[in-house]
Amino acid sequence: AAGGKKEGHKASFDIELKGAKDGEVVTRFPPEPSGYLHIGHAKAAILNKYFADMYHGKLIIRFDDTNPSKEKVEFQESITEDLKLLGITGDVTTFSSDYFQIMYDYAVQMIKDGKAYCDDTAVEQMRDERMNGIASPRRERTVEENLKLFTEDMKNATEEGLKNCLRAKIDYQALNKTLRDPVIYRTNLTPHHRTGTAWKIYPTYDFCCPIVDSLEGVTHALRTIEYRDRNAQYDWMLNAMKLRKVHIWDFARVNFVRTLLSKRKLQWFVDKEMVSNWDDPRFPTVRGVRRRGMTVEGLKNFVVSQGPSKNIINLDWNLIWAVNKKVIDPIAPRHTALNAKNLVKVHLANGPEKPYSEKKPKHKKNAEVGEKDVIFAADLLLEQEDAATLEDGEEATFMDWGNVIINKIHKEGDVIKSIDATLHLEGDFRKTKHKVNWLADTADTVKVDLVDFDHLITKDKIEDGENFEDFLTPETEFHTAAIADSNVSQMKEGDIIQFERKGYYRLDQVSKDGKPAVFFTIPDGKSVNKYGA
Ligand code: ATP
Ligand code: MG
Ligand code: MG
Repeated sequence: AAGGKKEGHKASFDIELKGAKDGEVVTRFPPEPSGYLHIGHAKAAILNKYFADMYHGKLIIRFDDTNPSKEKVEFQESITEDLKLLGITGDVTTFSSDYFQIMYDYAVQMIKDGKAYCDDTAVEQMRDERMNGIASPRRERTVEENLKLFTEDMKNATEEGLKNCLRAKIDYQALNKTLRDPVIYRTNLTPHHRTGTAWKIYPTYDFCCPIVDSLEGVTHALRTIEYRDRNAQYDWMLNAMKLRKVHIWDFARVNFVRTLLSKRKLQWFVDKEMVSNWDDPRFPTVRGVRRRGMTVEGLKNFVVSQGPSKNIINLDWNLIWAVNKKVIDPIAPRHTALNAKNLVKVHLANGPEKPYSEKKPKHKKNAEVGEKDVIFAADLLLEQEDAATLEDGEEATFMDWGNVIINKIHKEGDVIKSIDATLHLEGDFRKTKHKVNWLADTADTVKVDLVDFDHLITKDKIEDGENFEDFLTPETEFHTAAIADSNVSQMKEGDIIQFERKGYYRLDQVSKDGKPAVFFTIPDGKSVNKYGA
């Protein structure tokens, strides 16, 4: 309601859409099926859904498929799945390509009205003319000439047609350069993934978007701020075709440091096999961040916490991972993993005669997470790094068991090999300096591969004129061999856990063919990890 705006960071968008009437708002999310959904698209989709719900209106999911050179069924299907995963279903799903005939008819009408002309000026020269406010020599072609060129030559992609594009005749000297006779139709011989070879000419985004928005009854078109200069052009198109007005509402694009969001650039990494695929955990795609351990709830909470800010932002990944941590921390089961390099054998002189197992809670503060089996034994294993903190004679705490007196540490060179110790369960764990994780040295331990990642590029922000290929991070994937408690063997792909004193992990691949289970580190938004990621 008017006047309801609040200051500060609220977990809701304290904002209205201009001229919005309850029950009548129609928004649309128009992905081009030219790549997988990324975190920026997720923001746009969530915002559109948010406003449709807020006003009890409708959300249209529209595949903006007007460029067959970039689009594929694979992308369309993945976008549909990812939206479903995000809990975003439109009231209807539409396709720009369903309007090809209608848009063609509008283009013909524009020519008849003297508002569009065919131009065969070479691309470079057209760019120069546009920059310098020079009229194209083709601007004064007659309506008849343009009609023939468009409906015969361009439409059939004749040799002459292929040299031409169709341009709106607006104002070649306009201060707003988007009004300098933008291209509205191009020829393209690539078959379209939905319409096949029925068309050889395709409308540009600038022509298609206002027409389809208007025809589909969109009341509020949300666009990212870089399109602001194009708003005048969008309105011009609607006027020229006597179409119903649409409100435009600008919002800020999200960007993340050391992250590329352009589908073309992401495709480059896929093509060069520098990532496994579009769901690579280093990718900012919805699938990539999910594989890295982002939850749907975390992602939504993050977008909502960002609100409808109009500032172009280059966000730190820590922000989104911190939001995610709040979601996973109360429910992630706790387990134990030890770095497998130079494991230290501990013998407890007064330890249990035989190994035995006890049920323990998987999460100390949340019984609902369930129970796990903890194996107790006289022969244990410690991580080299933990063992190195201990001294002969010291009383230390072995986590979730009790205190232990360290009697004798045996080394070979600098490497600790084994420790003789005695259990001292009467000891007070609040008085010990060192608390270490351990595992019983039995055949039940499970081999795991702990994987961490760095960003694909080394620079926070690639500036105009810079090439991202000059800023590739040489090494972005880091493996640590470890052993974990036996419970881990029952986990399923996608499970999120915490390894005590290490951090959060998501099981990416269960153990198979003798290969260890693969766990990906989930950033927790706090620590800058050792790779700077
Ligand atoms: P490309 O990366 O190929 O330039 P695009 O990012 O424009 O494509 P679209 O599929 O056209 O991708 O985008 C669908 C919607 O998502 C658009 O409404 C667009 O404004 C929005 N969008 C795209 N990138 C971002 C981003 N980084 N932040 C917020 N919204 C975005
Ligand atoms: Mg786009
Ligand atoms: Mg773009």
